[in-house]
Amino acid sequence: MTIESGDVERVFREVGALRDGHFVLTSGRHSAIYLEKFRLLERPRETERLCAAIAAWARTLDVATVAGPTTGGIILAYEVARQLGARAVYAERRDDGAGRELRRGFALAPGERVLVVDDVLTTGGSLQETIAAITGAGGSVVGAAVLVDRSGGARSEVPVHALWRAEFATYTPSECPQCAAGMAATHPGTGGARGCVVREGRVEVA
Ligand SMILES: [Zn+2]
Repeated sequence: MTIESGDVERVFREVGALRDGHFVLTSGRHSAIYLEKFRLLERPRETERLCAAIAAWARTLDVATVAGPTTGGIILAYEVARQLGARAVYAERRDDGAGRELRRGFALAPGERVLVVDDVLTTGGSLQETIAAITGAGGSVVGAAVLVDRSGGARSEVPVHALWRAEFATYTPSECPQCAAGMAATHPGTGGARGCVVREGRVEVA
């Protein structure tokens, strides 16, 4: 099964994971687009569909294990592994803050073929830390895949397959066209339950 970038964007919009508005991001920059991956990951059917596209791409890589970083990467690693008939392991943040590691007794055979997956590639940090954790545990990373690459070309030692390469413009408040037009800005993703609500199976912005 293959999937077009436009189809991936449509799925993100349909589940409310991609919203239009005027948003203040955690970086402090402003954007007319907000991406909340958990509006997708809370829906197994849509998540399964996108993971099928990753699994189809990875089918020839002879993957023994799929690895993902906490938190969203756990869901993707599990589902892609399920579809490939592989095992799934998860890379967690180290207590000392220096990257990620495999915990909970996860072990890899020397040279074990591992596919690394993640939801959204932003800076590339989580993906690189996961690759380093797999390599450090003796595995061999044979591929990397994400649902969305919004990094604008993050450097990676392993080529990254993205279902959707997205470009979202962000602005400083003084450059922001929506601020200039006098539109009120909102802070998405903060304050717990604020943000989206589901009514009668449809996602609406609260
Ligand atoms: Zn603004």
